[in-house]
Amino acid sequence: VFKDFITGFPKESDMEVVTTDKVRLKIPEGSTAVLLKNLYLSCDPYMRWRMTMHDEPPCIPDFVPGSVVTGDGVGEVVDSSNPDFKVGDLVRGITGWEEYSLITAPKMLSKIRYTDVPLSYYTGVLGMPGLTAYAGFHEICSPKNGEYVFVSAASGAVGQLVGQFAKLMGCYVVGSAGSDEKVNLLKNKFGFDEAFNYKEEPDLNAALKRDLKKRFRLVKKKVFARATTPEKTDQIGTSSGISVEARHMCGCKQPARILSTISLSSGDRRSVIRSFPEGIDIYFENVGGPMLDAVLSNMRKHGRIAMCGMISQYNLDKPEGVHNLFYLIAKSIRMEGFLVSDFIHKYPQFEEITAQYVKDGKINYVEDKVVGLENAPAALVGLFAGHNVGRQLVVVSHE
Ligand code: NDP
Repeated sequence: VFKDFITGFPKESDMEVVTTDKVRLKIPEGSTAVLLKNLYLSCDPYMRWRMTMHDEPPCIPDFVPGSVVTGDGVGEVVDSSNPDFKVGDLVRGITGWEEYSLITAPKMLSKIRYTDVPLSYYTGVLGMPGLTAYAGFHEICSPKNGEYVFVSAASGAVGQLVGQFAKLMGCYVVGSAGSDEKVNLLKNKFGFDEAFNYKEEPDLNAALKRDLKKRFRLVKKKVFARATTPEKTDQIGTSSGISVEARHMCGCKQPARILSTISLSSGDRRSVIRSFPEGIDIYFENVGGPMLDAVLSNMRKHGRIAMCGMISQYNLDKPEGVHNLFYLIAKSIRMEGFLVSDFIHKYPQFEEITAQYVKDGKINYVEDKVVGLENAPAALVGLFAGHNVGRQLVVVSHE
């Protein structure tokens, strides 16, 4: 339950978990309502907007103090008097942060089409963030093969997909994220060409321009081996040190079979760390603030900026100014804001294409799940400290 309007950073204590028997689990007679058993709820930065009272809410209504938090989710229909939904249907859309929700006007619900992918994906890669990434990148950025693309908050629900859509288009992609673990994901799970931890960059401008040759030192290797008999295999396990031969590890006379050797350091090769020495064609903006200013001065002529979000500004009483807007003129840059709701009509096309990418293994998606409604407030608040690694969602009940 949302307690009351806030200013500044949201806190867990801005919401409370209550148990009540006052919820009506019966469909009112003569209505076209649907009773949902909620399975997955998604935590989204836009929910912070709804925690502040607006004279004229910008795009979605403010939360109502004392009422259940609402947001995107996935659920199962357990009762229905609506001709469009029957018991057992799996649906996605706007629901309540509660175990069961009585949805009196289910126009914001739609049936789930693919059940051969994880159902929770309908809060992420096949849900609202997925459509945001798909439409924002393809429709707003007008990408072309070979272009230079930069994504901020790149490991999150939206960003990880923007980067992968850009790679599928044949673009060169760099992302920024707030921890080394996330940077590693960007490069090794999502296929970004380069990535950096913006929290460790004293000069964002320099990070964006970087063109550095680096030589990594080999530290040690891990050897995985199998002996000639299954019993001896058990004794081997793994061992550190490249000079260790597998046969020594198991103490047997015959050589064991080396299965794999994994380098524990970054490698012993020369490596080039390259952001955008020639400038950025496309910026997918998720954070705003100093990052936006640094990007503006690194854009190329006729670049495009998709203004998707500005999470660094959502909790500030007074948003930071943007100082480098002049580059929009000097470099003929197009900067365009959008709401995912502008592209609802693209959902069927997006769902079909993206589900196929997922099934073909062309798109990876990382989720960060917490279990239980009691952990939902911390999960939501954690978005603003970067606690989530991938799409943050709450498991209310397994399907
Ligand atoms: P994420 O899953 O990316 O979670 C938010 C992430 O933002 C955090 O994990 C953190 O990652 C980063 N972050 C938090 N605070 C800051 C800060 N002060 N400076 C820089 N980064 C910060 O969220 P989403 O992918 O769901 O959303 C990404 C953006 O897209 C948001 O701005 C959101 O509002 C916007 N959005 C817009 C939509 C639209 O219709 N226009 C629809 C959906 C989302 P890190 O550790 O990397 O700092």
